[in-house]
Amino acid sequence: MLVNDIVPTLAPESAGLHHRATTLATQRPYLQCRACLYDNRHPFGLTFDETGLCSGCTTHAEKTSLDWSARFSLLERLVQPYRQRKGNYDCVIPIRGTAEYFHVVDVVKNQLGLNPLLVAFNSQFNSTTGIQNLDQIRDTFDCDILLKTQSPLAYRKLMRETLSRFGSVHWPFLAGHTVWPVRVAVQHNIPLIVWPVHQPTEQAGMFSYQDENEMTRRSRHEHDLMRFEAQELVSGEALLREEDVLTSLYPSDRELAATGVRGIYLANYLPWDTRRYSEQAVAKFGAQAAGCPGTFDTYDHVDNLVYMSVHDAIKRRKLGYGRVRDHLCREIRFGRISRVDAVAIESTYAQAFSETGGPGHLKQMFFNWLGMNAQGFEWLMDYHFGLAAPRPPGEAAATSVGQAAFLASYQRTGPAIEMQDNYILIGKGLEV
Ligand SMILES: [Zn+2]
Repeated sequence: MLVNDIVPTLAPESAGLHHRATTLATQRPYLQCRACLYDNRHPFGLTFDETGLCSGCTTHAEKTSLDWSARFSLLERLVQPYRQRKGNYDCVIPIRGTAEYFHVVDVVKNQLGLNPLLVAFNSQFNSTTGIQNLDQIRDTFDCDILLKTQSPLAYRKLMRETLSRFGSVHWPFLAGHTVWPVRVAVQHNIPLIVWPVHQPTEQAGMFSYQDENEMTRRSRHEHDLMRFEAQELVSGEALLREEDVLTSLYPSDRELAATGVRGIYLANYLPWDTRRYSEQAVAKFGAQAAGCPGTFDTYDHVDNLVYMSVHDAIKRRKLGYGRVRDHLCREIRFGRISRVDAVAIESTYAQAFSETGGPGHLKQMFFNWLGMNAQGFEWLMDYHFGLAAPRPPGEAAATSVGQAAFLASYQRTGPAIEMQDNYILIGKGLEV
C-alpha cells in the first residue's frame, strides 16, 4: 500500500510540531503511526501498513516473535571461522563510553569467546561519565583499546564546515566513529567488525532482522553522513585540507576485499533492548548512567556533552521533535509506557525546551569551543531549517504519578551531564 492511500491524521497539538507540520502539510499528508510517535517525516524513511502501523513497529514485533535462541546459534556459527586467530585479534568492536557497550563487549568476549580489539573514536566532547565508562570497560573485560583522537584543530575546522554547510554538529563524530574501526580492521588484517545495532532498522524498520544486513559503505553514506562525503568538505569556508579529512575516508573496495572485512550487527541475533542491557551493565559491571537535558533516558549518549544539548536542539529545529521522541517510541514498542503517557511526557519536554531555548550552559560551552556566538548559531538554524515558528501559549501537560514513576525508573549513578563545565579531551585530564 502506498503511503498516500492512508487517511492523514492531524498533527498533534503538542510536541512542538506546529512549524514543520504546517510547512510540510502542503507537500504531503502528515501521517503518524497509530502505535508509536514517529511520523512520515522520519529521516530514515518510514512506511506504513494498511492499518497505519509504521515499519519500525512492524520490525520491532520480531523481537518477540522470532526464535532468538536459534538466531544466537546462527551468530555462533557465523563467528566460528574468526575465533582464535593466533597472534591477532578475532574482531574489532567500535565502542563508546555508554552502558550499552558493556553488554556488547560482554557478548562478544564472554559469550562468543572472541578476542576483540576495542576501537573508540574520540568525540572530543567527553563527559566524565563517558570517560569513566571507557576506563571501566577496559578494566572489566581486560581488552586492548585503541583510542583515535583527531587533531583538535582539524576537528574544529571540520565542525565549522559541517555546521555552516548543512547544519550538523554530529557529522564529524559519526564520520570518524563509522569509518575508523573499518580502517583499523583493514590496517591490522582483522576481518570481522561487530556493531551493536543498525539504527535505521531499530527506529524505522528498514530491514527485517532475518535479512541479517551488514555494514555497508552505502548505508553509512546515506544514513550516517547525510549523503555528504568528507572529500566534498575540502576547501570550504573553514579551509579544510585533504589531510584534515583523511580520518573520515572509507577504505577502498579493493582494500576491503583484500582483508575480507565484514561488519555485522548483534541486534540481528539478539532481541536488542538498549535500556535493559544498560540497566544490567549498571548492576553487573558498575556502568555509569547520568541525567541528560531534554530527555529522561540516562544511558543514551551520556558520554557526549554536545549530542544531548546542541545536537538535540538542532534536531528539534530540523525535525520538530527531540531525542526524547526516539526514547519514547522505543519504550512504547516494548510496552513500558502507554502512548497517552508518552505524548504527555514529550509535551512536557517540548514545553520546557521552548521556554528555556534548551540547555543554555552546554550550548554556550560549544559556542566558546567553536568560536561563534548564539546569534550566529540561530542565523545558521534559520538559514538551514527556516524561521522557527513561535510556539502557541500552552500549559505543559501535568505529569501523572505513573509518568513520574516511569521517569524516575531510569538509574542515575552520578551527577547530570549539564553539571559539567568542560570537555575532557583525553582520559583523566587534558581539556580543550
Ligand atoms: Zn510505529
